[in-house]
Amino acid sequence: MICIVKIAYPDNRQAKRMVRTQIQARGIHDDGVLEVMSRVPRHRFVPGESTFEAYGDFPLSIGHGQTISQPYMVALMTEELHLRGGERVLEIGTGSGYQTAVLAELAGEIYTVELIPELSERSQKLLEELGYSNIIYRSGDGSLGWPEHAPYDRILVAAAAVTVPRPLTSQLADNGILVIPVGDSRHYQTLLIVRRVGRRLDTRESIGCRFVPLVQKA
Ligand code: SAH
Repeated sequence: MICIVKIAYPDNRQAKRMVRTQIQARGIHDDGVLEVMSRVPRHRFVPGESTFEAYGDFPLSIGHGQTISQPYMVALMTEELHLRGGERVLEIGTGSGYQTAVLAELAGEIYTVELIPELSERSQKLLEELGYSNIIYRSGDGSLGWPEHAPYDRILVAAAAVTVPRPLTSQLADNGILVIPVGDSRHYQTLLIVRRVGRRLDTRESIGCRFVPLVQKA
């Protein structure tokens, strides 16, 4: 059974404006992504002192040296996953939990891993409070994926890797899609879209981007 979790949020004018001016204006047209990002209360995912700039066109600090991704980047990465509902998704780098909420609205089951225990606990508490019940949380190193629940239809990595970690591609289902920022610079990377077709991996480059580093053993 496909069960899509849709949370009824109060009308969110700032989120609607953000979608119109930052996301639609830059060419994102996946209706699901636009609709969900017009609704999810991004201001709940940033620390109290940043609430007023939560819908700005930039990443923001969430403490522990980490950031909540820029709204456009969340939209682009989600659109590249081509979610139709029902997918099993692995997310590496829960961070604030904002991207997790967007995924939870559009896919079936989200397995999310966060290295920093305080961030993992904080995002879990908030996402549960908001009513999401299709997210499974883990605090720990996600650079090796989460083999116990593999294969995944989609994998989204929200931190920059030096190379595509092999354990992640091996946990990708046939026809599965992996979205990951990759680059050897600490400052700039390229967003890669990797699709598994049988034993083959097709890799395409999307845009240049800037993410915090993925702590990587693989
Ligand atoms: N999508 C999140 C992005 C958070 S930043 C948001 O918008 O809030 C990336 C996150 O990846 C950070 O919280 C960081 O702690 C986490 N991270 C880095 N390396 C990791 C690893 N090996 N395993 C799990 N999480 C990791």
